[in-house]
Amino acid sequence: MKIVKIMFVCAIMFFGSVGLVGCGAQSDNVQVSGAQGESNKIYRWKLITTWPKNLPGLGTAPEKLARKLRIMSKGRLDIKVYGAGELVGAFEVFDAVSQGTAEMGHGAAYYWRGKIPIAAMFATVPFGMNAQEMNGWLHYGGGLELWRELYEPFNLVPFAAGNSGVQMAGWFNQEINSVEDLRGLKMRIPGLGGEVLKRAGGVPVALPGGEVFTALQTGVIDATEWVGPYNDLSLSLHSVAKYYYYPGWHEPGPTLEAIVNKEAWNSLPEDLQVMIEMSVRAINDDMLSEFTARNNAALRVLIDEHGVELRALPDDVIAVLRDAASDVVAEAAQDNELSQRIYDSYMGFFSEVRAYHAISEQAYLNAR
Ligand code: CA
Repeated sequence: MKIVKIMFVCAIMFFGSVGLVGCGAQSDNVQVSGAQGESNKIYRWKLITTWPKNLPGLGTAPEKLARKLRIMSKGRLDIKVYGAGELVGAFEVFDAVSQGTAEMGHGAAYYWRGKIPIAAMFATVPFGMNAQEMNGWLHYGGGLELWRELYEPFNLVPFAAGNSGVQMAGWFNQEINSVEDLRGLKMRIPGLGGEVLKRAGGVPVALPGGEVFTALQTGVIDATEWVGPYNDLSLSLHSVAKYYYYPGWHEPGPTLEAIVNKEAWNSLPEDLQVMIEMSVRAINDDMLSEFTARNNAALRVLIDEHGVELRALPDDVIAVLRDAASDVVAEAAQDNELSQRIYDSYMGFFSEVRAYHAISEQAYLNAR
């Protein structure tokens, strides 16, 4: 009882900004670096994103991040968010943050696959781990440490900062009844999933979200994936494609990333660094909650109000894609020694977590 009382008093002191001093043994040694000299310094940062400005879910997450950090830091961390194309193009975010043009970025690691093939594993792996499993690997399975090691030569500190959950397979103007229907199909699909589509006869196209609608409307592409009902409705993809396919075999729970320029990160006092660490964890969780809450209602709107036809990919098409995926992912590991360690870590964790999830999450989903 006494311990509870002390903790309660300490909580009041902490949230009342009185400080931690005197709050018991665990807190006695807390020293916040820079508390004297840097407590009033204002850090004005630019946060550039790969998303259209304020796109629901993906684009609003960095806005929420900046707003909460501004409040928590009492204005010391003042971050301005830019949508894709406002400061740099969507696919220039990695280089721009690496070079210090902006201090922070928000996007997805598979967009940098042309530069670092294995980076895609930190976003998503076709037929790989879902959101819950990715978060387990990144935060308690050694994944985040490997991600930091991978981005270190690029002067970047990465964080997991959002997850959409299992995506949809995408939007098509023709039915997919066999693998033959994928042959020659020009489809916007990023990451390792794009390479898998290529092996199955398709033609993957890399496009940022802001260009997907026009590309499909004008016939530059025949099909596209984007995210899921909540996001796809906001891009009006239903008005340029008829069939909406599931499941999102190519993105079973993609992690979005926040990247911070290393010098900018090192320039921050410890308390602001901790605020960023905690805020990106919150955003990482918040986005999944938002998609979970809103996808089904958006799907009803797509079907009931816009006449979208929902379709499942045939089992034999899924089987061909699954076979191609294991080759594509294993090949990405052959780039260098670090790529192989990342692959081994991911696959080792995946193997163990899927064994347990077979008798927990999956068994429950089958049973309910
Ligand atoms: Ca996607």
